Amino acid sequence: MLPTLPPLREVIAKYGLSAEKALGQNFLFDGQLLDRIARVPGDLRDASVYEVGPGPGGLTRALLGAGAHVVAVERDRRCLVPLIELTNAFEGRLTVIEGDALEQDEAALVGRGAHIVANLPYNVGTPLLVRWLSDDSWAPWWASLTLMFQKEVAERIVAKPDTDHYGRLAVLAQWRAAPRIAFTVNRAAFVPPPKVTSAIVHIVPTEAPEGVKLPVLERLTAAAFGQRRKMLRQSLKAVPGALEALERLGIEATRRAETLAVADYVALARDLSGAR
Ligand code: SAM
Repeated sequence: MLPTLPPLREVIAKYGLSAEKALGQNFLFDGQLLDRIARVPGDLRDASVYEVGPGPGGLTRALLGAGAHVVAVERDRRCLVPLIELTNAFEGRLTVIEGDALEQDEAALVGRGAHIVANLPYNVGTPLLVRWLSDDSWAPWWASLTLMFQKEVAERIVAKPDTDHYGRLAVLAQWRAAPRIAFTVNRAAFVPPPKVTSAIVHIVPTEAPEGVKLPVLERLTAAAFGQRRKMLRQSLKAVPGALEALERLGIEATRRAETLAVADYVALARDLSGAR
């Protein structure tokens, strides 16, 4: 049996949780939408979930309602009391940590195999995603990511070659993981509504290609996409060994960054990772 809880709008009024722009606060109140987000990672009964920015606790309620154990990190002190009320209502299945999500050692907090689910504050969304995708060990400590982004960022994460959105973020998100847009979310669903449409992105890790060092891959994509309109023979000039690697792999140096598949970047990075 799920506990009876006050409507989220009442919680906001009772604790004076007016949304702060600086904290990227755009709250969700629609229970059906929140349940839909909580279903994206799959069956959460007894699963461990890490949530960034629970705010007044709408998504947290949905995750707890789905049977998860949740560790949530929130920076806004005003939200702590209503969140403690949720901890009590769900008999300790929620642990709330006050702090900055960018400064947490999440693996130590939640352990391996946790699902990350968050309606992210936009200002820290991309840095957190990059951090989670850059984990030293692979498979990473997290089992899946279910994250709200501005739709434009979501499109950059899932982008395919030969499109405007394709770039460093797409390669980072796709070389050893599979991202998809689960669904888009109308701006009117948020209080207050942000300027743009949002989207829920779901990412699961896949097997990491052998022999590729992430810093090498990143150096390549930074150089290639840093001058995306230039030919590779120009943009990769500053990366030692890259032009020779292009030749060895039969990739035309007259091509531009956005025409290479993720597999091409992986092959180049593997070639260069072995060379040092
Ligand atoms: N989860 C709630 C919901 O869906 O209604 C709130 C989402 S709101 C977009 C983002 C939340 O992240 C806010 O509660 C904000 O205070 C919190 N936040 C912002 N920056 C943060 C940070 N660096 N670390 C942890 N939480 C942060």
